[in-house]
Parts: sequence; C-alpha cells; structure tokens
Amino acid sequence: MTQTLHRAGGSQHVLRLPSTGMPVDLLGRRLTDLRISVTDRCNFRCVYCMPREIFGRDYAFLPRDELLTFEEIERVVRAGMRLGVHKVRLTGGEPLLRKGIEELVGMLAALRTPSGDPLDIALTTNGSALAVKAEALKAAGLNRVTVSVDSLDDETFRRMNDVGFPLERVLHGLDAAHEAGLGPIKINMVVKRGQNDDDVLAMAEHFRGTGYVLRFIEFMDVGTTNGWKLDEVVPSREIVERIAAVHPIEPVAPTAPGETAARWRYLDGEGEIGVISSVTQPFCSSCNRARLSTEGQLYTCLFADHGTDLRALLRGGADDDSLTDAIAGVWSARDDRYSELRSSATPDIRSRRKKIEMSYIGG
Ligand code: SAM
Ligand code: SF4
Ligand code: SF4
Repeated sequence: MTQTLHRAGGSQHVLRLPSTGMPVDLLGRRLTDLRISVTDRCNFRCVYCMPREIFGRDYAFLPRDELLTFEEIERVVRAGMRLGVHKVRLTGGEPLLRKGIEELVGMLAALRTPSGDPLDIALTTNGSALAVKAEALKAAGLNRVTVSVDSLDDETFRRMNDVGFPLERVLHGLDAAHEAGLGPIKINMVVKRGQNDDDVLAMAEHFRGTGYVLRFIEFMDVGTTNGWKLDEVVPSREIVERIAAVHPIEPVAPTAPGETAARWRYLDGEGEIGVISSVTQPFCSSCNRARLSTEGQLYTCLFADHGTDLRALLRGGADDDSLTDAIAGVWSARDDRYSELRSSATPDIRSRRKKIEMSYIGG
C-alpha cells in the first residue's frame, strides 16, 4: 500500500503504509499524539519532578551524542504521521534549553500529513526563557505553548522550582508568548497538598478573563524519585468545588477525543479552566499518546517501565518503512492503562515498578 507524504515547498515522498494501516492498540485506541522530550536537562528542580537531592550537581545527564538529533526526531515524526500522528508536543526536561530548538520546530512545521495538513505543534515550558525565545519560535512555526506556573506567590513559586527562580520572569515570558501569538496559551499548575494548594483560588482569579486556560494537575507518581504520596494529591473534585464556591462554573463537553483535561467554564463568560485528574479520574480509555524520550526510546505510557529503542533502528540504517512498521508494531501491542490500575496496585507494587523519570520520558 503506498501513500504520498507532501512536504511544504512542493517536494513529495511516496511512502508505503504498513500492511496494518492506521494501527489500533489492544484497547481500541488510535495513535494521534506524539510527545517528544528534546532534553533531559532543566534549569529548575521542581520538587515534584526533579528533586535536588537526586538531580544534584553530580547527576549524570545524557551526553550529547546519546540525544536524538533533529534529523532523527523528524524521521520518527514522519513515520508517526503515516500512522495517524497529527499533533506533536515538544517537552523535556526544559525544551527551551535544547540548542537550536527553533530549527527543529521549523523542520516539523514543514511536514504535511498524508491528507496534506500541517502538524499541530505545541511546546510545554517552564517559561524561564520564553521572553527571549517566543518570537523566534512563532516565526519557526510553533503553534502554541503551555507554561507551567505553580503559584502567584513569589516565595511559594521559588520554593517549588527550588532554584529560587523569580515568578516575575515567567510572567514576562507569558506576556512575550501572548504578544508573539503563541496561543491559545495554557497554564499548568501542579497542585501539591501543603505546598501550593492555598493558591488555587488566587490562580483562578488571576487568569480568569485573560483568555489563558488554567489547568490544575493532580500530583502524579511519575518516575520513582519524587516521593509521591497519595495524601499529597489534591483531588480535582476539591479544586472544582473551591472555585465553584466563589465563581460558578459548569462542565464543557470535550472538543477532541483523548483530551487529558476535563473542561469547566465560568457561567459569567470569563473563560475556562481544566482539571487533569490522572489519579482520581483516570482517562486511559481515550489515551492516544506515544512518547519519544530524549535518547529515542518509544514509550506508550507516561508510567512505562520499558520502551522500544528507535535510536538503534535509526542509527542501524533502518529505512522509513521499517521505522514505520516498528512503531505500528509497538502501538498494536499496547495495553497500557496504568492510572486505571494504580488504585488497585498495592504501594509495594507501585514502588517496585521501575518507572521512567518525567524529565526523561517527557511530561
Ligand atoms: N519543563 C517544562 C515544564 O515544566 O513545563 C516541560 C516538562 S514538565 C516535565 C511537563 C509538565 O509536567 C509540567 O507542566 C509539569 O508541571 C508537569 N509535571 C512534572 N512532574 C509532575 C508530577 N509529578 N505530577 C504532575 N505533573 C507533573
Ligand atoms: Fe524542569 Fe519542568 Fe520538571 Fe520543573 S516540571 S523540574 S521545569 S522539567
Ligand atoms: Fe495514558 Fe498511561 Fe496516562 Fe493511562 S496512565 S492516560 S495509558 S499515559
């Protein structure tokens, strides 16, 4: 079976679709999104992600030659596009620390799906370098950004990023992203009981009416080093209740299948919030995301304990068809639904599972 992959600028690649066509996993889910970790490094040490006791001065980050090159990433994306991928999110680590990231954005923006559409390209960032990079990213073809902001209280913000990074600089970055047209902008707030849960209402009120969509994320047990405890998770239901008590809200139907956030809108028309309830209301049944790690492992779940080494294929001379077939094979065998199983797993089983760290697998 052949398929034409169009590229911007007129050139075309004639490609053969794998015999499986668009793969469906063992639970009937399609592959539509690819999250790509472009670096395992970060200038923050967020307490829930890269605790400084583990990611200290002598922590061994990946050497440069172990990272996928931009050309290698582009090849994986092209292969994914033949299988249904139409949305890509660049993440990490801190993606804006990857040198020349705009160049990768440009390469991805030039690709076209088999039906001739451009990719939807998003990037999740801590915002620290956005003031400098926003315009260049937009010019390269980035569609939108999600910026992580855990508090509007500078002291809490600095404590949570654990490197004393000032809130004001991230807010400047947000302004720059807005001015560059990298919207609709989403804000991610990871809510951790006893750390920043008192800031939920202030965050909601700050972003109400701005056009930014604030999403509250339940603290998750990604990796094995973030000291996750169930009693530090603030259930989304509680967050919704706290906001609704002051500003009435109603649920909004999802616009696309596989949306991670449940959406709510203010009754007075001042915009929307989202809640990502990976712990208390898992959404595995519609999860259509694969993840490509910094060194080219393909993972089919955020909580995976093993991946498939695409870098070995890429560097071993595999052609586009073999690469596409390999990804289709992995997806077809997928049965992940960790978040649905988490509550039934004992703490012992959870702690023995050797999950991959968030900064490496890509949040
Ligand atoms: N460095 C970028 C940033 O912070 O936005 C991108 C990578 S970060 C791993 C992606 C997202 O994952 C961020 O919004 C972050 O807050 C979230 N995250 C990290 N660790 C988490 C955890 N344990 N539970 C829930 N969300 C987490
Ligand atoms: Fe860095 Fe993002 Fe992880 Fe914070 S959440 S440590 S900014 S990768
Ligand atoms: Fe998807 Fe895994 Fe998260 Fe379930 S636990 S929603 S399968 S990434």
